[in-house]
Amino acid sequence: RAMSSVNIPPPECMLRPLEVPYRYLFGPGPSNVPPRILAAGARPIIGHLHTEMYEIMNDIKRGIQYAFQTNNHMTLAMSGSGHTAMECAVFNTVEPGESVLVSINGVWGERVAEIAERMGKLHICKLSNCRDQIDQHTSKHKPVLFFLTHGESSAGLAHPVDNVGDLCLRHNCLFLVDSVASLGASPLLMDQQKIDILYTGSQKALNAPPGTAPISFNERACHKMFNRKIKPVSYLLDMTHLSNYWGNDSKSAREYHHTGPVSGFFALRESLAILAEKGLENSWRQHREVAEYLWKGIEDLGLKLFIKDKDLRLPSVTTIAIPDGYDWKELLAYMMKHHQVEMTGGLGPSIGMVIRVGLMGYNCSKFNADKALTALADALKHCPKRRG
Ligand code: PMP
Repeated sequence: RAMSSVNIPPPECMLRPLEVPYRYLFGPGPSNVPPRILAAGARPIIGHLHTEMYEIMNDIKRGIQYAFQTNNHMTLAMSGSGHTAMECAVFNTVEPGESVLVSINGVWGERVAEIAERMGKLHICKLSNCRDQIDQHTSKHKPVLFFLTHGESSAGLAHPVDNVGDLCLRHNCLFLVDSVASLGASPLLMDQQKIDILYTGSQKALNAPPGTAPISFNERACHKMFNRKIKPVSYLLDMTHLSNYWGNDSKSAREYHHTGPVSGFFALRESLAILAEKGLENSWRQHREVAEYLWKGIEDLGLKLFIKDKDLRLPSVTTIAIPDGYDWKELLAYMMKHHQVEMTGGLGPSIGMVIRVGLMGYNCSKFNADKALTALADALKHCPKRRG
């Protein structure tokens, strides 16, 4: 006699096949994944600790070093989305009681401020983008870490990073940069721009599925995180373990820490290979050209771009000011229903202010820009426009 019997029946939905529509992912991410990367992710699974997997992980490291333009030995991919890399960077380099300086130019600074705040008694200084302010705040609060978002996807802003690294170095503070929305689309040179820690995501211009996040630490960052008095709060994100898992420490063997997303790593390797074949400069140029084409098309529709200064616009994610009289949710719903085109509204401080259009990597073509513009024009024509 069974000790217990199954009294919850198999759910109806599980007896129906999986259905996934085809969508044109022209929002801020994830972007469409090209067949070559999908095929890489569909390869048979091997063990996460097999020698062949180590080779693939080593390739990924080399691919990230190229994409980031860094010679940093401590380069790897996080098992998780962009947030995992964000938390990894903060948790490993900051100890309770130390202060963190966060530049807030949109939602991502707010997020990192919240992550840092959760760790204990930290002084969070919120400031915008002025260099004098950074100097002033670093002198006053002596932060161990300064955070800046390079590609602010909520605002559509490409934040300049030149000279900030020097400033941080002078104040003995680590310079942490988020390039989730900009890597591969907007020029960024980790070593030359003296960025101490840089991370990105797999699902934007790299066109891999969501779920892995490249990150790199330079010597200065390694010195800080491997000379801590107390261990970081997270076991999963502890870099002493992760550096071993990625073969980056001095131990001769890699030991089990967690089971990495094997298929996600296959796909990430393929996406980095595509970027290496194409070349970073070509990728930057393509994003800029297509963005300029899109910006002109948007203005020709009578719409206004949210970031006025062309040089500060992010080429991967464009923000359009919501046109007067329209309900942005209706515009987005119309484009999804009639064109299978995804665009999104704002995020955090930009909610209700913008519509975001992302043409990244595989999606970055004039053909797709035209597709996005056609959907927008059609939505403007058919959605109700209210007066006043
Ligand atoms: N930073 C930026 C600039 C982003 O655009 C995003 C994703 N929209 C993230 C961080 C977070 O990445 P994820 O959603 O992969 O956790």
